[in-house]
Amino acid sequence: MYTSKFPKTSLGVFPTPLTELTRLSDKLGGPRIFIKRDDLTGLALGGNKTRKLETILGDALTQGCDTIITAGAAQSNHCRQTAAAAAKLNLECHLILGGEQPDKISGNLLLDKIFACHIHWGGANRKGEDIPELVKQLIAAGKKPYIVPYGGSNALGAISFIDAVEELVNQTEQAFTHIVFASSSGGTHAGLMIGKRIFKQNFKLIGISIDKDEIDHQELDQHIINLANKTAKVIGLGASFSDQDLTLNTDYIGGGYGVVGELENEAIKLTAQLEGILLDPVYTGRAMGGLIDMIRSGQFEKDAKVLFWHTGGAPALFAYSDTLDFSPVH
Ligand SMILES: *Cc1c(COP(=O)(O)O)cnc(C)c1O
Repeated sequence: MYTSKFPKTSLGVFPTPLTELTRLSDKLGGPRIFIKRDDLTGLALGGNKTRKLETILGDALTQGCDTIITAGAAQSNHCRQTAAAAAKLNLECHLILGGEQPDKISGNLLLDKIFACHIHWGGANRKGEDIPELVKQLIAAGKKPYIVPYGGSNALGAISFIDAVEELVNQTEQAFTHIVFASSSGGTHAGLMIGKRIFKQNFKLIGISIDKDEIDHQELDQHIINLANKTAKVIGLGASFSDQDLTLNTDYIGGGYGVVGELENEAIKLTAQLEGILLDPVYTGRAMGGLIDMIRSGQFEKDAKVLFWHTGGAPALFAYSDTLDFSPVH
């Protein structure tokens, strides 16, 4: 591995499968569409956070920490995978989740409970605003806490997606023209950008923006570019990234983070009913909805080869039974 000097702890099963979505492609009359199945990373129902946690918690173990803290939405896939990783690694786990404790425990939150992590309800704060206060309390209680940032999106998290590009390049001879994926806290996007540069790939990265809110008081596009530059520095890569390296499509944010509309609904149904693959209501449903819309509006050449990077999230489907519709699409 290019980044092997950063120790990982093994949490998932890699490489994740790569297959082609021929029925979806035929239905859309579009280019060939492939899928990278990071929903099958193997840790507690999978997802892209498994990759990030391998590098981030590798560091936590090196530092001798005994407790980890992270934050996210009530249906956070990141928090669920962090809780699972903590269980496996015998670390105490604290999650600060946005909102209030709901009446019904379902989806990712149900899984968090099964892993018996400590859940703190953060109200309006779902991006780790309350972590410093909790760190103080845990240190006072004699713990050695380690902070896993919101979405696992720091340099170590991004490094795992440099490795993911290496994995992809070693896995297939296909020359993809585009990679489309859900982009939110930015670690996936930044890592893919750097991996593309290191492994001299020609695909265009198209991040579909999921959430319009800022992170650390930065607009998301600036946050991703800054993270890519910071990560490049951490790995000793003499390269810099600017606006020109970033495509973050904000056309599909619709009703905002976690709000399912017709776009997500149709994408979830099409992918399920044509390919037998589950997308999720918050991230991959929106990203695939964006891809479908871009195909329909003629934004890809007929001979394009598009890779959809499935980043996981299907456990959240169970928390969205009231907003999803089940009518057949064909
Ligand atoms: C976290 C997450 C993403 C976004 O990845 P980032 O690295 O935070 O941008 C996409 N899809 C799913 C299912 C996720 O849980």
